[in-house]
Amino acid sequence: MSCWVTKDNRSSGSEWVITFYFGYSFGKVLSELSVGDRIASFLISRGELLMSCPHCLSTSTSKRKHRTSLAYRTFFCPGCGRRFNRRTGSPFNDLQFPTDVVLLAVLWRLRYKLSFRDVAELLLQRGFVISYETIRAWEFRFAPLVSENLRSKRRGSAGVSWYLDETCIKVGGQWRYLYRAIDRAGNLLDSMLSEHRDKHAARRFLRRLLDTAGEKPLRMTTDKHPAYTKAIRWIVGRKVLHRQNQYLNNRMEQSHRSIKQRYYPMLGFQNFESASRFCSAFDELRNYLRARSVDDEPVPASTRREIFTGKWSALMTELAGEIS
Ligand SMILES: [Zn+2]
Repeated sequence: MSCWVTKDNRSSGSEWVITFYFGYSFGKVLSELSVGDRIASFLISRGELLMSCPHCLSTSTSKRKHRTSLAYRTFFCPGCGRRFNRRTGSPFNDLQFPTDVVLLAVLWRLRYKLSFRDVAELLLQRGFVISYETIRAWEFRFAPLVSENLRSKRRGSAGVSWYLDETCIKVGGQWRYLYRAIDRAGNLLDSMLSEHRDKHAARRFLRRLLDTAGEKPLRMTTDKHPAYTKAIRWIVGRKVLHRQNQYLNNRMEQSHRSIKQRYYPMLGFQNFESASRFCSAFDELRNYLRARSVDDEPVPASTRREIFTGKWSALMTELAGEIS
């Protein structure tokens, strides 16, 4: 990232975009790929290897001289007579900013305690004039993409012992309930914002949990709320051991802390949908970037940094969904 800051100061606007695009995004992509893939990606980026058509999947495409306004190389497919670039078919295709910038804005907003105006200012420092309303629109569109991508990755990886609890979140001046579940190792199983704390919400959350996890647990630990007993019996089955533990809060409170701290500076959410979208994406991203310790051994800072960098760039590449 430092690379594109220094380049920004030296070069003109259009060159800057090219430098940013290849220097940041493409450079990061390389580290995730095998040697063969690296060579192929490198040649594609130089326009020396042709890409398959996203419309008809034909591989006999030709390179065009013309680049898009964001410096994406364009290609032509004689099969279907259509033109395309690396971004064609991705959710970011119609945007007037590079995919990396959009993703960075959305992930910054989800990861750090930044307002829409803060993110707009940070991007302005790097030469992008973007209104805070645009950042809001990007969050609206792409936060669900982040949640869905990360949620699908977790399928089948849940432990056998699940812990369920709710925490209160203020939405439109009223308290709403964020249902959250973690396993014994503290990994997120799922989260769901609900207007009420009742049997219907408990059942809905349990169905969602099983759907995300893809398997049933052996043990479930909940607070003393009576709605859970029947809901677990009906949705999860009679074989699961249901424990109602008064000390559960200790484990869950720690897990709730991060969402609480993230939303305090926001002074609550305006409406239910945006709150639900944000909480879900925030929880997923936090869980994904969490450095997991083995046997409670502290993770060294260098390992932590390495894990973070690898995961962050892998996520950016995956979400971008560009053709390769
Ligand atoms: Zn085609």
